[in-house]
Amino acid sequence: MALKVYIDGKLFPQDEAKVSVFDHGLLYGDGVFEGIRSYNGNVFKLQEHIDRLYESAKAIALQIPINKEEMQEALYNTLKANNLKDSYIRLVVTRGVGKLGLEHTKCKIPSIIIITDFIELYPSRLYEVGIDAVTVRTIRNHFEALNPRIKCLNYMNNILAKIESLNAGASEAIMLNAEGYVAECTGENIFIVKHGELLTPPVNAGILKGITRDTVIELARKGGINVMEELFTRYELYTADECFLTGTAAEIVPVVKIDGRVVGNGKCGRMTQSLLAKYRELTRSPETAGVATPVTVKT
Ligand code: PMP
Repeated sequence: MALKVYIDGKLFPQDEAKVSVFDHGLLYGDGVFEGIRSYNGNVFKLQEHIDRLYESAKAIALQIPINKEEMQEALYNTLKANNLKDSYIRLVVTRGVGKLGLEHTKCKIPSIIIITDFIELYPSRLYEVGIDAVTVRTIRNHFEALNPRIKCLNYMNNILAKIESLNAGASEAIMLNAEGYVAECTGENIFIVKHGELLTPPVNAGILKGITRDTVIELARKGGINVMEELFTRYELYTADECFLTGTAAEIVPVVKIDGRVVGNGKCGRMTQSLLAKYRELTRSPETAGVATPVTVKT
C-alpha cells in the first residue's frame, strides 16, 4: 500500500506528494522539522516534539499557520490514514513558495508536510557490539551563526561531519564546538560514563536539546545515577568507561571505539545496557509511552 503524505491539509499518495521548486525549504533550507516515533500506536513525547517545532519556528521568525492542537490532529489523521503502529514521523514546516531571493517576506504561506513511514530499525546486533566513531574537523555550528537548538532544514553542517566520518571508515562523527569541547554527533546527542556517573555536554555547548537526551537524564536521575551536564574534551572521551549516543530514531547506541581508542571493554557497557532497557520499557509500555493515537491498527 502506498503511504499517504500530508501536505497543507490534504493527503497525497507518496508518488504525488511534491513541493514546488520555488519553496524556500528546498532553495535555502529555510524551514524547521521534527523526527518523532510512535510505538504500538502511541506517539512518544509528542508534546515535547511539537513544542520544540514551534520554538524552532519562532526562532527563525516563521509563523506556523496552524496551532499546536491542529498540528497534533493532522499528525494523528496521517497516522490513521496509513494504519501505522510503529512508525517514524517527520513533521516539516517550510517557509513556503516565494520568489528567488533570501528575504523570508517573499514567502507568504509556510507549507506543512507530515510523513509517517515505517521505522527502519538499526540491526539489533549494533546495540550489543556498538559503533565506531571519530571526532571530526568540521565543528558544530557556532551558536551565533546558527544555533544548533534550532532544528532547521539545513543539515549541511552535520552532513559534512558525516562525510568525514565515513571517509575515515567510522559510522559516526563526534563534533566539537568552536572552543574544542565535545558537542554532539550528526543526528544524536552524546553521553559518557566515568566512575559510575554520567556526563553529557550542556545545552550551551551548542547542541540540539535532544528529547531522548532529556528522557535519558531523567531516567538516570530517577535510578539514582549522578548526571552532570558539563563541558568536556576529547581527553574525557578517550578515557571514558562507556560512551553512548541518544536520538529518537536510534534510541541509545553504544560507542565502543573513538579515534581508534577502545572505550571501556570494547562492548556495550553495563550502564548503557541498563539505560537502554529502561528506555525501551518506557517507550513500549502503554502507560508511559505518551499520547495514544486514535489509530485503528490491523493486527
Ligand atoms: N542532535 C542532532 C543534531 C539531531 O539531529 C538529533 C535528532 N534529530 C538529536 C541530537 C537527537 O534529538 P532527539 O533525541 O530529540 O531525537
